[in-house]
Amino acid sequence: MKIVFASNNKNKIQEIQSILPENIKIVSLEEIGCFEDIEETADTIEGNAILKANYVTEKYGYDCFADDSGLEVTALNGEPGVYSARYAGKQRNDDDNMNKLLDALKDQPDRSAQFKTVITLNLKGEQHLFTGIVKGSITLEKTGDQGFGYDPIFQPENYTKTFAELPREVKNTIGHRGKATQQLIDFLNSTK
Ligand code: IMP
Repeated sequence: MKIVFASNNKNKIQEIQSILPENIKIVSLEEIGCFEDIEETADTIEGNAILKANYVTEKYGYDCFADDSGLEVTALNGEPGVYSARYAGKQRNDDDNMNKLLDALKDQPDRSAQFKTVITLNLKGEQHLFTGIVKGSITLEKTGDQGFGYDPIFQPENYTKTFAELPREVKNTIGHRGKATQQLIDFLNSTK
């Protein structure tokens, strides 16, 4: 069985492939000759994951899965959410995004937040959604230098360190992306 992962991230592809049985082959966008940038124009995380998976299935005819993630802050009604990567503007970086968020939460007593990943799988004419969530809170300042994005200001529930301070294995196990990926893998293993 061949399934496209709507991504060109070789690490992510290899990581998932290594956990799956040999009869399920994960292929990248490049490998099916898809070199275009699939625009993420939906206004929800789910919407973008669906849009990317459907693009590949409709245009190229392959079974496919795609993921999308974001940080949802309670006091900001779920923002930055689907706009997490460009919260402070398209040309801005992780630091700008974190500064904007810390500023928005200044004097805010409720600092609760969650990371969410949605994976959409189009398989044999059916669509399946897998959601991974990790709850936590936004710290008062940046701490730690590992990871990426909002990791230095996100402290997962039941931990006293941010994602940028915790070992990568911990983040992979309790994190949003790891949880959604595990659901996908369990599902694929059960349908092989
Ligand atoms: P993507 O859909 O995985 O590319 O995530 C979109 C954006 O959400 C990223 O550019 C980050 O700003 C933020 N984000 C998603 N996952 C994480 C994470 O694990 N740590 C920190 N930031 C993240």
